[in-house]
Amino acid sequence: MALKTSVIGFPRIGKNRELKFESEKFFKGQITAEELEKTGAEIRSYGWKKQAEAGISFIPSNDFSFYDNMLDTAFLLGAIPERYKALSLSPLETYFAVSHGYQGEAGDVKALPMKKWFNTNYHYIVPEISDETKIALSEKNKVLSEFNEAKSQGIKTVPSLIGAYTFLTLANYTGSKKAGDFSEEAVNALALLAKSLGEAGAEWITFAEPALVLDVSDSQKALFTSIYKKLISKIRAQSKIKIALQTYFGDVRDVYEEISSLGFDAIGLDFVEGKKSLELVKSGFPKNTLLLAGLVNGKNIWRTNFEKQAALLAEIKKYVSEENIVISSSCSLLHVPYTTQAEEKLSCDIKKHFAFAEEKLVELGQFAAGDEKAFEENKKLFSIERVYRTPGVQKALSELKEQDFVRKPNFEVREKIQHEAFKLPLFPTTTIGSFPQTKEVRANRAAYKKGSISKDQYVAFNQKKIAECIALQEKLGLDVLVHGEFERNDMVEYFGSQLYGYIFTQNAWVQSYGTRCVKPPVIWSDVSRREPMTVEWSVFAQKQTKKIVKGMLTGPVTILNWSFPREDISLKEQAQQIALAIRDEVLDLEKNGIKIIQIDEAALREKLPLRRSDWHKEYLDWAIPAFRLVHAKVKPETQIHTHMCYSEFNDIIRDIDAMDADVITFEASRADLKILDALKEANFRTEVGPGVYDIHSARVPSVEEIRSALEKMLEKVQKEKLWVNPDCGLKTRGDEETEKSLANLVEAARQLR
Ligand code: GLN
Ligand code: ZN
Repeated sequence: MALKTSVIGFPRIGKNRELKFESEKFFKGQITAEELEKTGAEIRSYGWKKQAEAGISFIPSNDFSFYDNMLDTAFLLGAIPERYKALSLSPLETYFAVSHGYQGEAGDVKALPMKKWFNTNYHYIVPEISDETKIALSEKNKVLSEFNEAKSQGIKTVPSLIGAYTFLTLANYTGSKKAGDFSEEAVNALALLAKSLGEAGAEWITFAEPALVLDVSDSQKALFTSIYKKLISKIRAQSKIKIALQTYFGDVRDVYEEISSLGFDAIGLDFVEGKKSLELVKSGFPKNTLLLAGLVNGKNIWRTNFEKQAALLAEIKKYVSEENIVISSSCSLLHVPYTTQAEEKLSCDIKKHFAFAEEKLVELGQFAAGDEKAFEENKKLFSIERVYRTPGVQKALSELKEQDFVRKPNFEVREKIQHEAFKLPLFPTTTIGSFPQTKEVRANRAAYKKGSISKDQYVAFNQKKIAECIALQEKLGLDVLVHGEFERNDMVEYFGSQLYGYIFTQNAWVQSYGTRCVKPPVIWSDVSRREPMTVEWSVFAQKQTKKIVKGMLTGPVTILNWSFPREDISLKEQAQQIALAIRDEVLDLEKNGIKIIQIDEAALREKLPLRRSDWHKEYLDWAIPAFRLVHAKVKPETQIHTHMCYSEFNDIIRDIDAMDADVITFEASRADLKILDALKEANFRTEVGPGVYDIHSARVPSVEEIRSALEKMLEKVQKEKLWVNPDCGLKTRGDEETEKSLANLVEAARQLR
């Protein structure tokens, strides 16, 4: 018997990133709201048709968004801060004012903040709720209009939206009221929504509650239960519409009992990332309820292993009757690119191992139908060795010993040696690495890539830039210099493209936030270094000055976290392979006279597991050692720096110290320096450079401002351990503001000395 199929969400940026380009035109006033709406409609229609053609039984609507679904829910529920409404803009402009900020005749408002969406690379807009907020169903009902739109195209969809629990739990509260104070209003609004959908002919409504896969406290559990008890009974009283609860990104172990007993008509569980999902189902699944079984990974780019998932399905069937099982994607397909068909440069031998969103639709159908031919072919695909393991890499990994992860001598001894060798002043000044990537810098790279200039021309231009950059830093009086990173487009791609084992796609764009997309490289086989990747640039830079120039590398965890990883070997092994490759580079830099080497781990915090109890055993226990592996073999007098972008690492501060770098610089200017208390409390040993100004804005910080930030830092950090630097790389800044800001930074440090 063919099972039914369900999709949680479909990509929405447009097959050729139309939404991005058209939105950007709209922001610049080059197209009208109607024209942008039309693009939105075309993108939606494309997705629905693809899913209908693939025979998907439950096709979602309202998964489209002009920016973000959390923001859409805020608009649906009328939870929009007054300052945006006060601009009296058109609906679409108001929407973008919240997501993007607005500066014009009507006023000047900043956008709401963004945050990472669970364990993905997607960012959502954090709704802001004040004591005055009144939650009520908005007149402009996007859920209803998109349902009707699909219906008019002959496609019956399942309207789905972010549920009240996740919405209220993730929102920011500016007053004294909290999530629970708004649950009643939210329930009323959603019951009304369900009624309108029922009247329009919708058979189902889906509430997505991914926040249920996090650690759920007792009070949160009570909030969830009270919301759905009321909501379900209200909906039942008014409408025949069926109610689905959708979860993803993990399992719902803390609330499974509640979920099972609330009386949903369908429950969506993730069997890919949800380690305990099967166990939970085994403990009992409610009768006459559909199980939307997330068996096709919505997040990775690889083909589904049918045999493996069929075994899982067979287990599920022992506890849930077959007619109640629906085969589903494990999460929204938003997190994968559209289709492998757009990859013209990848060979078929590689492509056949990939399944992007459209290929996953086909897989869902084949898997649910138990299509014998497809199973046969799938089995063949997984039984051949996809890649040959690289003997050199395998050998190096097998020979790793504990001491390869331990730098000698210990921190205090090294610190002394380095202080004596470098003779840096108190409060040494430095930058994070990149200098402004001006138009000319980018044009030079592009011209070289296109082949319109020779390698010599390309190198000569960059060398000139490096020499100028060094001269500028000397003029400004910075203590530890950088070469400026003019040769790099992106801190991961730059290394990925020079390593064995990586492949790059042409069109595999994934939405990161709003109009921003990323094209992560793919780890295809064992990773190793071809040849030195940065040595020539660093050596050239060092030759221009007597001061120390920092070598500049990206760390293994960040390279891994910003790539599509393999699934045939563990993340830990992939991190170690990359670490060994970067270690080769570190040792080559050292050999060539580079005395300070910075290894950026901008994305280390990003992949911290959703549940705290998993933090160490599933992540930090291999991620931190991978970083140590990179630098453990350097000489005591070589100073290792690292840099991180998110200062929200108070809760992993000991793990950061255990990376055993000599100096860490990080973003701190926006986080109220709270991190400093954590440093002090943990007795942080590593020297620190908490960013003294925010590089995300073009503002030039004054000397006084920087000095007072430093004075505050000195209350918590020993003076011998404090470095002075901006909070991140300067690549997005202009030349002029950079020079002024750095001049003030140097002056502030000088005054403090
Ligand atoms: N060294 C990099 C730069 O300066 C670090 C970038 C980052 O932290 N995201 O650009
Ligand atoms: Zn940074």
